[in-house]
Amino acid sequence: MNLKLYNSLERKKSEFSPIQPGKVGLYTCGPTVYNFAHIGNLRTYIFEDILKRVLRYNDFQVKHVMNITDVGHLTGDRDMGEDKMEKGARREGRTAWEIAEFYTRAFESDIALLNIIEPDIWVKATDTISDQIELIKILEAKGYTYRTGDGIYFDTARFKDYTRLSHQNIESLREGARVEKNPEKRNATDFALWKFSPEGARRQMEWDSPWGTGFPGWHIECSAMSMKYLGEQLDIHCGGTDHIDVHHTNEIAQSEAATGRKFFNCWMHGAFLIIAGGKKMAKSDENFLTLQNAFVKKGISPLVYRFAAFQTHYRKPMEYSEESIQAARNGLQHLQNQVRQAAQKSTGQKGAVQEEFKTRFLEAINDDLNMPRAMAVVQDMLKSSMGDADKHATILDYDRVLGLSLDQVDKLEKLPQEIKNLVAERQTARDAKDWAASDRLRDTIQDLGYLVQDTKGGMQVIKK
Ligand code: AMP
Ligand code: ZN
Repeated sequence: MNLKLYNSLERKKSEFSPIQPGKVGLYTCGPTVYNFAHIGNLRTYIFEDILKRVLRYNDFQVKHVMNITDVGHLTGDRDMGEDKMEKGARREGRTAWEIAEFYTRAFESDIALLNIIEPDIWVKATDTISDQIELIKILEAKGYTYRTGDGIYFDTARFKDYTRLSHQNIESLREGARVEKNPEKRNATDFALWKFSPEGARRQMEWDSPWGTGFPGWHIECSAMSMKYLGEQLDIHCGGTDHIDVHHTNEIAQSEAATGRKFFNCWMHGAFLIIAGGKKMAKSDENFLTLQNAFVKKGISPLVYRFAAFQTHYRKPMEYSEESIQAARNGLQHLQNQVRQAAQKSTGQKGAVQEEFKTRFLEAINDDLNMPRAMAVVQDMLKSSMGDADKHATILDYDRVLGLSLDQVDKLEKLPQEIKNLVAERQTARDAKDWAASDRLRDTIQDLGYLVQDTKGGMQVIKK
């Protein structure tokens, strides 16, 4: 069955076909590790995970590369402001390298809790500085660069079709030059490939280059890494919608200028998570919600967030509210109960994946990852007159895409004795309204690898 994906370059859904049959090169822009990821960022990674799982479900072999931005991403996307890493380091009184290490680990833990499959290749920007320098040298040799007092810039006026992805009006972008802070830039849209360390001051992260000591601009890392690890297989490149106008537009310009051929064929973008009032959740706001604060510490399984993300199509804004999370919590619990019942009623029987429902599920996910529709198919299937063994087999097949650990639900009752004892102790503490002891015991259970959820029906404990 055809897989249709919405390509931001063409602004329409079209049938996906990779460069090499059966194989897909996937590049997803990774986190800037100066702080925890917020649940908005994580929405984008859930969308990308669904994409990857849907590709696999369609029997494509996927090679997935993700970068870790640990240098060179300034607080303004257009090369202005401070380096986010050095800012984070100052805030926490640690080195930029320590900050990067700490938040990279936190990110890895977040995505594991959300059942997001790890990329095949993780690459840190700081591990590919020489590749980035080589790419800048090619651009320099081809005459696309110029030097200013603070760095080496890409001359966007020399690249035809600069706004191919963003579809912005180039004239109005150039108008922006009047308010431009760097008067040495030839065009408002020009961007730094290499920035010099400030005169007389040492940065924590800096490298020698043919142009002077400094650090790479943010955009160049994704071009260098995707071409290094995916080579000719430049099929799908993803990120959030905020990357369209600047980051991805600049990646296309510098990559195509360097190679003379098309960069990625398909560009996909996830819409924002917004909070009440329509405001985008942003790291710079400092009031963002993390997976730990909004879920784990409240005893809500992170998979509730994954489930919540399925209720909105990835190209539509998703609104976060306590109510929507409560609804998702009930929805996931209901689904887990349905799966548990199907498993228990069919113990010892071998079921088969039901073809008609497999087709309906495929139609939904292959229509540009339509998860709300796929979730409706899940309910139709579970409520149908099919036998329990077939229902169980079919839902476990769907779970290759859903990633909700539905194969675990019938094992919930089989907790180790040590955990059962702690759960009983915590229940006693809760009955006595000793919340401090309850929280402490929850942390102990979680440290042992189990997640505790307090639901209307009582405490639920599942393996992380
Ligand atoms: P960053 O770590 O800031 O580079 O962002 C990581 C990813 O999250 C990028 O793909 C962004 O486009 C995406 N992103 C940023 N804010 C949001 C949001 N509020 N909702 C969804 N995705 C977002
Ligand atoms: Zn990127």
